[in-house]
Amino acid sequence: MLDSHILPPEIWCMVWQDMSFDDRVSATHVSRYWRHVARSCPRLWTHLQFYSTVHHVECECAICGPYELDTRAIWKQPGKTNYQLVLNALPLSGSLPVHLDVHVSPFYSDHGLLEDFGMDIQNSDSGAADRLASLQVVFDDPDTLMWLLSGLGSLPSLTSLITRAVTSEAIRFSHVRAWRNNAIHLPSLRTLVLDNMRWQCPDRQWPIHLPSLEYLTCPLTDPDEVVRVLDACPALKTLLIVVPSEDQDEHFEPDWMLDGPTLARLARIPSVHVIGVSDFETEKWAIRNFGSIPDRPDFVLHYLPNAVPLHSNRLLAEMRDITAFSLTRAYNSSVTVLAIQNSQGIRRRILFGPAHLGNLCPTRIIFGPNSTQLTTLHLSAPFAFLITDRLPHLTSLVVEIVAETDLAAFKVPMNTLVPALQSLCIVNIGPTYRLGVRAEVLAAVLVSLCGVVALKEVTLKGVALYGDMRFLQGRVQRMIF
Ligand SMILES: [Zn+2]
Repeated sequence: MLDSHILPPEIWCMVWQDMSFDDRVSATHVSRYWRHVARSCPRLWTHLQFYSTVHHVECECAICGPYELDTRAIWKQPGKTNYQLVLNALPLSGSLPVHLDVHVSPFYSDHGLLEDFGMDIQNSDSGAADRLASLQVVFDDPDTLMWLLSGLGSLPSLTSLITRAVTSEAIRFSHVRAWRNNAIHLPSLRTLVLDNMRWQCPDRQWPIHLPSLEYLTCPLTDPDEVVRVLDACPALKTLLIVVPSEDQDEHFEPDWMLDGPTLARLARIPSVHVIGVSDFETEKWAIRNFGSIPDRPDFVLHYLPNAVPLHSNRLLAEMRDITAFSLTRAYNSSVTVLAIQNSQGIRRRILFGPAHLGNLCPTRIIFGPNSTQLTTLHLSAPFAFLITDRLPHLTSLVVEIVAETDLAAFKVPMNTLVPALQSLCIVNIGPTYRLGVRAEVLAAVLVSLCGVVALKEVTLKGVALYGDMRFLQGRVQRMIF
């Protein structure tokens, strides 16, 4: 350890900065010098990871066994926590913003411990609660956030609160409490993701106001809940509504219809997504309540892989003056995305399982009466077969590939179908950082699309062109890499 003096403290801080919280703490135990250096570097203590695996005193899991009042209270519940370690580390961050990751298990965990932890942060002399900028909560116990917030109360600088359920048991909404149970003050919160949690606050005396909230993900199971969200979040720009599954909420009946005033308030949110559409009932419900605003800039319907899109055709057919059409599939994902955009920038997107492409009739959209001014086409290469007819105004074509062989889709002559084409963009979306494509293969694509005329512009993203460049002579005016 004598050698450690050779490096200046700033370098040690840089070395430790990307390590996990536990490893950073371990570094302070190596030598007195390291301890001094690490503790004097506030930057090292701005990202903290708290965990608790302590079981609730009434937990009856396989480890805890049956709950017997007399015996349980005097025994220490199983599990561990780094509660004190995180609390000790908070003052070391000086006056910098703090980011806290929280990981809580099992399914029935020690709630008092979570509330106390929140309160200790709030009461700490370091002003950590005032500096908390982001909170990420990964939970097995669905009440984790509620108890944590109950202790924290006020977080004036918090901009992001993201939760993720990794539950060992199915969560039933009827058993789950609201995400908070008291007055909390989150004036700066911009992003809130409530995974497997209910919005509804059983205690009406604590209405919440989130004046800065722009992005919200949550389930909405009844019209009252929608109103409550609109009341609480006047600045909302993006709302992602999660459809509860049957396991989560056996009482969810997707037959309700929002009233006129609520629909009018909802219409002010520019981007609305409905995630987890599972059947034609939830599809109808989603379109009726959230997709019926023709001039909303962005609306997204996200189907479960097995769900068949039946009514979204109507949604797509309502759009006039379509200028851009996109049909893509991410690498290694079964989700296919169909997107259209019109001349006013209004966008509609449908995410669905690949087996249901036929239901959405993509060619009927591309060559339909609303797409006569189509200028941009964005396709995963395997969907190139959709170009079956003339697109007289198409100027821009974007093609996504994962392998060079994908470009074989452009072997047949298409130049008469896309006479106005000016730019081609080939994007590698595969796992290779830079996908090799031979110049002669690209030249063949250009011949297919343009015949003997040179294309104005070809852009390659994540693609390395190699081989004999003479093949490209006279086929393109400008190449952008
Ligand atoms: Zn237990």
